[in-house]
Amino acid sequence: MKRLGIYVHIPFCEHKCTYCDFNSGYALEEVHYLKALIREIENASSSFLSHEINTIFFGGGTPSLYTPNSHDKILSSIFKKFKVNASCEITMECNPNSLSFEKLKDFHAAGFNRMSLGAQSFNPSQLKTLTRIHSRDQIIEAVSHIKRSGFSNFNIDLMFGLTEQSLEEFENDLKMALSLESRHISFYNLTLPKQHPLFSRLPHDEHCRTMFLKGENILHKSGFIHYETSNYALPGFECRHNLKYWHMEEYLGVGAGACSYLETCPQWIPQSDPCSGHIRLSNIKTPESYVKSIKDQQHACANFENLTNDQAFTDYLIGRLRILEPLPLGLWKERFGMGITQTLRDILLKHHNLGLLNFDSDKLYLTDKGRLFLDEILIDFVNLNTDS
Ligand code: SF4
Repeated sequence: MKRLGIYVHIPFCEHKCTYCDFNSGYALEEVHYLKALIREIENASSSFLSHEINTIFFGGGTPSLYTPNSHDKILSSIFKKFKVNASCEITMECNPNSLSFEKLKDFHAAGFNRMSLGAQSFNPSQLKTLTRIHSRDQIIEAVSHIKRSGFSNFNIDLMFGLTEQSLEEFENDLKMALSLESRHISFYNLTLPKQHPLFSRLPHDEHCRTMFLKGENILHKSGFIHYETSNYALPGFECRHNLKYWHMEEYLGVGAGACSYLETCPQWIPQSDPCSGHIRLSNIKTPESYVKSIKDQQHACANFENLTNDQAFTDYLIGRLRILEPLPLGLWKERFGMGITQTLRDILLKHHNLGLLNFDSDKLYLTDKGRLFLDEILIDFVNLNTDS
């Protein structure tokens, strides 16, 4: 049986953070959006009768703003309409100020078994600059509630390369997250467009690289595996849903702006379009238009892309190079049924010559330097797909 992940997008937030470019921040609306989500899930299900769901991820936005009752309804519709594996990983993204012990107990009872907490920093002044609306104490309290309510598997999201951030400040953030016994820590380098008012206050790239290496060192010493460029986990606690994105495995996205990657055409795509076996779809972005589209057309698909084998393969490399486990070279031929094109070969050789990529017998992997300059490799692949 084929496997499928389901991503549910809840785009509502109490407030839009200054650095955020996600499809999020809309004023909370529960009734109509919830109804549309459930309808989309029910309509989509008939296209996935031969799939088993092994990961579900509620992201946003701030899904934890929704009541446990609403989450229960969404999950119940998935359980009812899809075949869900008994050990399915079911994650909810949450913010520290939208959680209480009672709420978390109800989320757990509804079926969630993993929480991902957006902390970003423990430093009060950084939280203020980032316009986060929670305090350091609220993060600590939220983690205590998460643990007491039965979640042994949870992630803490942190950022580094914050405005004028010192190495010591960054280390304190990381050590604090470790002291809270998180099984998984994501730490992302804050990146902002040049015109952003905070841009001039960001530390230099070299300083950010030092933080990255320092962080890696601290986490390794604490038993964490660096499994993806921005993600660390204790063995067995890697995020199975996010791994699907990086391995380019099938997932269905529901909700406003949600994206999907599928290998067969779902029923709501006009059958006149040939199916290449690598399909990317994305939904209408604003919650209002999304709700209307589901009501009028039964689906909310705004973009449909049939990738060629070359585009799919390049997409695959963009995701797969983020995973630090070496990539067996034979795998891409097996999966994409093709040899490597001259253009791809040239890009790989260029980065090999720059000391960013290496080949070891039949495996491709990032060098230590390549881990620090990953974006410079990926941009070549992104450009390749944009040009084609
Ligand atoms: S809470 Fe998260 S999703 Fe919402 S605006 Fe802030 S960073 Fe973006």
